[in-house]
Amino acid sequence: MTEPLRNLDIEELVRLDTAHHLHPFTDYKALAAEGGSRIITRAEGVYLYDGHNNKIIDGMAGLWCVNVGYGRDDLAELAMQQMKVLPYYNTFFKTATAPSIELAAKVASKLPANFNHVFFANSGSEANDTQLRMVHHYWQCAGQPEKRFVISRENAYHGSTVAGASLGGMGPMHKQGGKLIPTIHHVMQPYWYKLGGDMTPEEFGLAAAKSLEDKILELGPENVGAFIGEPIQGAGGVIIPPSTYWPEINRICKKYDILLICDEVICGFGRTGNWFGLETFGIEPDLITMAKGLSSGYLPIAATGVSDRVANTIIENGGEFYHGYTYSGHPVACAVALRNIEIMEEEKLVENTRDVAGPHLAKRLAELADHPLVGEVRSVGLIGAIELVKDKKTRERFDPLGKVGTMCRDHFFKRNAIMRACGDTMVLSPPLVITPAEIDALIDVAKECIDATAKDIGVM
Ligand code: PMP
Repeated sequence: MTEPLRNLDIEELVRLDTAHHLHPFTDYKALAAEGGSRIITRAEGVYLYDGHNNKIIDGMAGLWCVNVGYGRDDLAELAMQQMKVLPYYNTFFKTATAPSIELAAKVASKLPANFNHVFFANSGSEANDTQLRMVHHYWQCAGQPEKRFVISRENAYHGSTVAGASLGGMGPMHKQGGKLIPTIHHVMQPYWYKLGGDMTPEEFGLAAAKSLEDKILELGPENVGAFIGEPIQGAGGVIIPPSTYWPEINRICKKYDILLICDEVICGFGRTGNWFGLETFGIEPDLITMAKGLSSGYLPIAATGVSDRVANTIIENGGEFYHGYTYSGHPVACAVALRNIEIMEEEKLVENTRDVAGPHLAKRLAELADHPLVGEVRSVGLIGAIELVKDKKTRERFDPLGKVGTMCRDHFFKRNAIMRACGDTMVLSPPLVITPAEIDALIDVAKECIDATAKDIGVM
């Protein structure tokens, strides 16, 4: 394994980090009080190593992104070659580069047949900003500029930019001034375990979808341009919708002529056992957001997939689309993303997720379902969740929500394993290269951590 580039003085790094570095989604005061950050220095396969040389199993693939695993020399070498040949050129003003063109064609070949165009960005948030701009541009070109409202779901996550945070349905983000775009509205999320009450999952799926129809009728279909949703809400707590939900959403969007945006930032590139979550759930979108697994996180890159309906309208209408980023189609990021997709093909990582690793994870997760603290386990492919609850029968949660989840997360930390807590829902999304033996190791640790949490709160 490659060693870090310089000799690291870990204590000094922790000191400098606290002194100078404001991290994303962090309570700075609390982080400093807890002794600062854990410094990750290198990685290989599904394992990270910290500054004290602890080997940590990464059950989250970084932030749901390192699908091909860490330590891929060919991606590093390709990046170096591309940097030598052409480190940068833009794709504005009638120019393009070979990697950006080849990647656009490759991504289009993976998308549904009615998708032939992509627009590049650098992050999922930016790609969702592009979606909003694209929706408005499309409806202007289509002669219906009044279709400006966009509908999303509560507890959705679509990024951290102004558009991303506004499209998302995260209460704490909105409280910090995040819901800044007044044309964005939110409807019920398809979270059966929390909201389903006495309904069957199938009944609840239809009820959650109906909240979209009700909102469209309230706003007036002539004013609604798009609906956005993640196939599975990731950051919201790996919320897997009932089977009835997405077909009904397809129907409603078609009925009222509303563009359907599928945010595949987490589900895309194999996570659910298909190339895209839309295949797993039968979603029929007009626009698709991609990031994370597109390059397995080796370099920042994202893309908006644009269906023929939208692309042909804006192309035929003519006129400039006044939108783009300096690094849209960055040649090094595109070259790496292209090779990343080829690796996924060569190593059959999607098939492996669907046929081997995913079923193994589901089987091992099911063993946790009897635990007194566990209300539900669920997974699709290599994305899963464990709900920690106060009362298994009534599905009553702990109060305040998040305290028990954080305790459990800290037990993972102590045992050199990473699972994330979304409230009291423990979520996992390991690299797609994870082996059954590594899944066993992860679930064995999970069981220990849930036991330890149960002891902490006096349940066991
Ligand atoms: N959409 C979804 C579904 C996501 O999960 C995320 C990131 N977790 C984003 C958008 C934003 O992506 P980024 O952090 O790359 O801006």
